[in-house]
Amino acid sequence: MDKISKRVNAMPFSGIRKFFDLVGERKDIISLGVGEPDFPTPEPIKDAAIRAIENDQTSYTSNYGLLELRQKISEKLKKKNNITADPKSEILVTVGVSEALDLATRAVLNPGDEVLVPDPGYVSYKANVWFAYAEPVSIPTKEEDGFRVMPEEIKKRITKKTKAIIISSPANPTGSVLSKKDLEEIADLCIEHDLVALSDEIYEVLIYDDEKHISIGSLNGMEDRTITLNGFSKAAAFTGWRVGYAAGRAEYIEAMMKIHQYTMLCAPSIAQYGVLESFSHEEYVRDMVKEYDRRRRLLVKGLNEIPNISCITPKGAFYAFPNITQTGMSSEKFAQRLLDEGKVAAVPGNSFGKCGEGHIRCAYCVSREDINEALGRIDGFVKKL
Ligand code: PLP
Repeated sequence: MDKISKRVNAMPFSGIRKFFDLVGERKDIISLGVGEPDFPTPEPIKDAAIRAIENDQTSYTSNYGLLELRQKISEKLKKKNNITADPKSEILVTVGVSEALDLATRAVLNPGDEVLVPDPGYVSYKANVWFAYAEPVSIPTKEEDGFRVMPEEIKKRITKKTKAIIISSPANPTGSVLSKKDLEEIADLCIEHDLVALSDEIYEVLIYDDEKHISIGSLNGMEDRTITLNGFSKAAAFTGWRVGYAAGRAEYIEAMMKIHQYTMLCAPSIAQYGVLESFSHEEYVRDMVKEYDRRRRLLVKGLNEIPNISCITPKGAFYAFPNITQTGMSSEKFAQRLLDEGKVAAVPGNSFGKCGEGHIRCAYCVSREDINEALGRIDGFVKKL
């Protein structure tokens, strides 16, 4: 008897996890590895969650999530994303974007459907498609295009089986941001080929210079075929609170809700009360984004001063994706030796797909002091090679 499902067996563990098991608790390492804010959750939000406990607001909420929270999300979607979503039937509060992604793929896909995913891309995209018994199809991206997914690359990979596309902007691991024109061309392809867009917008507010975040769900003809996925983990320093949401037409949200009600019931009530408070404290997020921007500039400038390393300037998220091909090493070898000899942890780019080979992902979720120290160590490591 096969004890474990063939699908599950066939999916390897995330390359990030594998790598970070090696880092463990080592104190001599500077980690540019983990993609999570180093800031604490802002005080008023913590206070709101503590109040929720004190007021015994600790029971299950509606399966859809607190109605007040859905109303806030709906207002935010209207004001900032130009998306209309009825708080009663078109928004589902989830356990992070992670759950929203899982529900969306399971609700939409049939066995054998193909889903287009960016390469390199966030590690969970392929895995979620796969666990929904569908087939992920990589859309290769290139450094010279700023790692944006190019409509012509999408077009080449659309077949009769293509059901959906995952849009990720700003993106992990590259920090790429899709322009309005890119999104309009992708939207045209979705409409022409009847595709559903699953749009992961978790890094929406982490965007720099003059870039502007556009939601594909706001474009003409996309309102009925987009599920917008977003959450609070990254922008509001909330990763452990586990709250996200999905917004889309009622037929999608209802189908997702069916799975959610049998598997999760609801997102944690205490965390939902905390998130509700975050809508009144956007100033914290603005300050965090300013600090990420300073770190981004420092890191990218420093990386470009190191021999045999080059780094394009990421436009969003909190990742730089330097090119290390001139060192002659594979991403994995480079990251392993950098860890052992240079005492800096970064994620090998191939963990995010074939097109990530030749790169490492450096998250700038550490202080500027640590970034300077890490740059010095990387420089010393590369010069000794
Ligand atoms: N989407 C992207 C692109 C991410 O990088 C991550 C976390 O790293 C997630 C989703 C998961 O988000 P959440 O913490 O809301 O589950």
